[in-house]
Amino acid sequence: MSLEEAHALATECLLQNGCNEANARAAADRMIQAEGDLCHSHGLFRLPWYVAGVKSGRANGTANPRVEQLAPAVIRVDGDGGFAPLGQAIAHQPLVDCARKNGIAALAFVNMFHIAAMWPEVEKLAMEGLCAFAFTPSYPYVAPAGGTRPIYGTNPMGFAWPRADAPPMVFDQSSATMARGEIQIAARDGHSVPDDVGIGPDGQPTTDPNAVLEGAQLGFGGYKGASLAMMVELLAGAMIGEFLSIESIQDDAGKGGPPKGGELIMALDPARFGDPAGFLAHGEKLFEAVLAQEGTRLPGARRFENRLKTAASGIDIPQSLHQSILELM
Ligand code: NDP
Repeated sequence: MSLEEAHALATECLLQNGCNEANARAAADRMIQAEGDLCHSHGLFRLPWYVAGVKSGRANGTANPRVEQLAPAVIRVDGDGGFAPLGQAIAHQPLVDCARKNGIAALAFVNMFHIAAMWPEVEKLAMEGLCAFAFTPSYPYVAPAGGTRPIYGTNPMGFAWPRADAPPMVFDQSSATMARGEIQIAARDGHSVPDDVGIGPDGQPTTDPNAVLEGAQLGFGGYKGASLAMMVELLAGAMIGEFLSIESIQDDAGKGGPPKGGELIMALDPARFGDPAGFLAHGEKLFEAVLAQEGTRLPGARRFENRLKTAASGIDIPQSLHQSILELM
């Protein structure tokens, strides 16, 4: 289907399942943006989960997010218990303005459901010439270093750097070896996963995605990934007064649906850090050195190429997913 058809399908499904126009459109924008970049684990695959969140009464499909200034360089957005994309859209311009004014600004998102991928927000900030970081916890899926039971979320971190004549450099990565959505897709499609992805309920390494989903995922690079996951819990949970992953799952209480929680975004204006005329060219010098080596590419480049392709040719979604979306309407 074309991206427009996919967007219409997602919007209509959300409208028929308790979302108002603003919330349905913002969530559909985000899902179809992910489909367009071929990031399927944050695309339409999530739609039944969003519907379950509203139907269970946990997520507010008619949320009205509010922006507050907590300190000269700190903004908070209360998402009113809705899905993250609407609050994120509303918070973008205040964060840009605050970063331009102060050189640096932080945004604490609270009271929102399913803060999905980090790249949309950091990329959008870098398109404005800012450098940005984003972090969010989720549900407890990852065991601490040396442990066997999940405590941390797969806790992604995103970073974006602006470029003058090219799309921003953006990386966005889970602190686990594999994003959970990818493991769920492997389980759905009957594929195995690499043996460093997780451990089964018996605490032993396994390549069976179903066993990992019942057991625990592992941080990437062993204890280093686990420490980054812990940092994300502290920054985007404890510091902003939002759930840790172990608290978010208690809040869900088995109802099913996306995790409720927070996100921390930081935006820096590189033009205010001492080399306003030179920082862009200086960054390019690094990228040129990287790209001069065969086999390299910049993080984010795959998505930007996918975006060009899907804008022209549309997207494919599994028949089974299409059917399950139609059954929700
Ligand atoms: P990947 O491992 O697929 O990619 C991580 C990053 O590395 C991307 O920016 C990617 O760029 C870049 N990259 C990959 N290969 C190369 C390469 N050869 N050279 C240079 N850069 C490269 O991502 P994850 O599986 O860790 O995460 C997937 C998504 O899931 C993310 O968007 C993340 O935010 C999200 N997520 C969300 C969670 C949540 O709770 N909300 C939890 C965990 C993950 P490119 O995109 O161009 O390939």
